[in-house]
Amino acid sequence: MSRQPQPDAKLARYLALLAGREPAGGLLEIRYRHPDRHQRMRQRWHPAAHPARAAREILELAGHTDVYVGVTPRRHRHGGRSAIHRAWVLWADLDQPDGTDPISRVPVAPGVVISSGTPGHRHLYWPLTQPLSVPQVERANETLAHALGADTGAVLGAATILRPPGTRNHKHTPASPITVERFDLRAHTAKEILHGLPVVQRPPAARPARPRDSARDPLLNIAPAIYVQALTGQAVPRDRKISCPLHEDRTPSLHVYPDPEHGWHCYGCNQGGTIYDLAAKLSGLDTRGSDFTELRARLSKLLLPGQAAHNGQHGVPVRG
Ligand SMILES: [Zn+2]
Repeated sequence: MSRQPQPDAKLARYLALLAGREPAGGLLEIRYRHPDRHQRMRQRWHPAAHPARAAREILELAGHTDVYVGVTPRRHRHGGRSAIHRAWVLWADLDQPDGTDPISRVPVAPGVVISSGTPGHRHLYWPLTQPLSVPQVERANETLAHALGADTGAVLGAATILRPPGTRNHKHTPASPITVERFDLRAHTAKEILHGLPVVQRPPAARPARPRDSARDPLLNIAPAIYVQALTGQAVPRDRKISCPLHEDRTPSLHVYPDPEHGWHCYGCNQGGTIYDLAAKLSGLDTRGSDFTELRARLSKLLLPGQAAHNGQHGVPVRG
């Protein structure tokens, strides 16, 4: 076998990939779990132009705690989306514990593949010849995630943090190493990487059944993954897709978004909306008038048992 580079050299090259040709002033963000009793996340910053410095600090921290790195360079000391101007890679978060490998479904194989320390769980990166803006990279990541059956949740966002290679996943005992499976820095244009993949249209934000109620109505603040499971009996998997209960659906088409604002949307039957819309379709009730009152009572009893109205006489099963 050929001699492997030292782990910190590979880590520094990985960080250099994320930093791209970021203009002066760009920063690499390191986030780590402070190993005190609160396990709070802390941040450290290094110039994007000096990835070796960031690599040294990451390896020091990695001996005793979980360490993450912002996938995109930040323009100031802030971990949020507003601090980001561009991305130098596309990425995806793939969880295939059954050993299937969907990478052949995309036209350009990811150059960099990192094993996250959990079996079947990998982070894929595609080096870009030219950077993409924040909305561009988020749309591109979403297109890749759908093609791969990968996680379509928050991990697509420009502010994503992921585990760098050479660190350890301390969720496991003993802590499992984050390892490099593939490391080919040849870059492609986004157009080449996404060539021929179906473009994913985000559904418009679901409109609450009663406008302006979301501030007051606790039902409109329940995470879609929770109410979808309660109403359909299907746990929402990591890729956030379930079989649509509104029609025969062999390939899971119903997407469950992380936030109540986007709710759920089925790309098979093109229906979607809020908790009320799903409960209404499953029960045959309307989202207006006395049907709405009935729906709200049933949903409160099912999902907010401590706060249920006393008029919920009709039992829990909303379906059928
Ligand atoms: Zn459907």
